[in-house]
Amino acid sequence: MSQPDCLFCKIIAGEIPSTEVLSTDTVYAFRDINPQASTHVLVVPKAHHEDARALAADAPELLADVVRAGAEVAAAEGIADSGYRLVFNTGDDAGRTVFHAHLHVVGGEPLGLFGK
Ligand code: 5GP
Ligand code: ZN
Repeated sequence: MSQPDCLFCKIIAGEIPSTEVLSTDTVYAFRDINPQASTHVLVVPKAHHEDARALAADAPELLADVVRAGAEVAAAEGIADSGYRLVFNTGDDAGRTVFHAHLHVVGGEPLGLFGK
């Protein structure tokens, strides 16, 4: 279920420290180390799946847990009404750097438009 060389598997296992925001049986949420807005939290499935595409194909109910947790994090952060963005970067063109599926929850201030 976990991959020995995976950064986020190590964070989930507590081998690398992180600032917890939410933990359930299936997902873990923690603050991004390099926040891009005043709220920037990552939600990951506790089981290792390489990216959102693999998660959707192999464990769609777990993908639903991740998205649901993203909404719960937004509510807990007090940004549910002001607005927020949920992002899965998938593949090279999206700039994905960590090969364990993760949902970015970003908000707390007006966000720029997507683009290059
Ligand atoms: P990606 O570009 O793959 O979608 O996003 C990876 C995210 O993980 C980045 O926003 C990056 O700041 C974050 N990140 C990378 N290493 C660590 C770490 O060791 N701890 C935490 N909390 N976040 C990390
Ligand atoms: Zn992993």
